[in-house]
Amino acid sequence: MIDAIVLGGGIVGASAALMLAQKGQRVALVERDFCGSHSSGVNYGGVRRQGRPLHQLPLSQRAHQLWADLPGLIGIDGEYVRSGHLKLARSHADFAALQAYAEQTRGFGLGLQLLEHAELRARFPWVGDIAVGASLCAEDGHANPRLVSPAFARAAQRLGASVYEQAEVIRIEHDSHQFQVHCANGLHLQAPWLLNCAGAWAGTVAAQFGEP
Ligand SMILES: Cc1cc2nc3c(=O)[nH]c(=O)nc-3n(C[C@H](O)[C@H](O)[C@H](O)COP(=O)(O)OP(=O)(O)OC[C@H]3O[C@@H](n4cnc5c(N)ncnc54)[C@H](O)[C@@H]3O)c2cc1C
Repeated sequence: MIDAIVLGGGIVGASAALMLAQKGQRVALVERDFCGSHSSGVNYGGVRRQGRPLHQLPLSQRAHQLWADLPGLIGIDGEYVRSGHLKLARSHADFAALQAYAEQTRGFGLGLQLLEHAELRARFPWVGDIAVGASLCAEDGHANPRLVSPAFARAAQRLGASVYEQAEVIRIEHDSHQFQVHCANGLHLQAPWLLNCAGAWAGTVAAQFGEP
């Protein structure tokens, strides 16, 4: 018996599988290639809150707290470093936009520091004269996506999730009780819940239910 099938082993699917497994749900994570081998494993690794729209910030702050103890969550540090993110303003209009963003987000705890030209030059001389000012979020940072994304899937597996790699989902039906999920390698899974975490391919999956 499976409670939930997670389709897609990127960071979205693998972290959903991990959270469900933590809550005692029986989870199957199904990945066409290898977990973390697509966008989640090959991106720039930025882990940031600065610049996100206001409506995303409560969730970003919760994620920020989880990342503070990445080894506790996934068993490795994933080369995660809170190195700081510097957003540069190349015009006075840009700097006014950074000031407005800092004002709007004051209650969210991002700790943004606005640096005018002289202070920016003093603290970050390599910027040169290209910027008139900047906004620093000292607690934003980066991680190694090649390490972090597969580690989420392995952590889910350690908590009991079944992880199927090289298992491309080719057909899904709903029989009014359960999702019936068929893979190219002959694997057949069924569960009352299906999470569509197929990244750039999620629309193709959703199209099978008339929601492209
Ligand atoms: C160049 C680049 C730079 C980026 N930089 C950053 C950054 O600095 N910071 C940041 O936060 N984000 C960044 N991103 C965005 C980030 O990488 C993505 O938002 C994130 O990886 C999406 O995760 P995902 O799990 O939705 O998708 P994916 O990692 O693509 O996972 C989806 C998975 O679904 C699987 N799948 C699809 N169809 C099927 C099927 N039919 N059967 C089985 N499996 C299937 C795929 O094989 C894939 O592994 C960047 C992205 C790119 C491309």
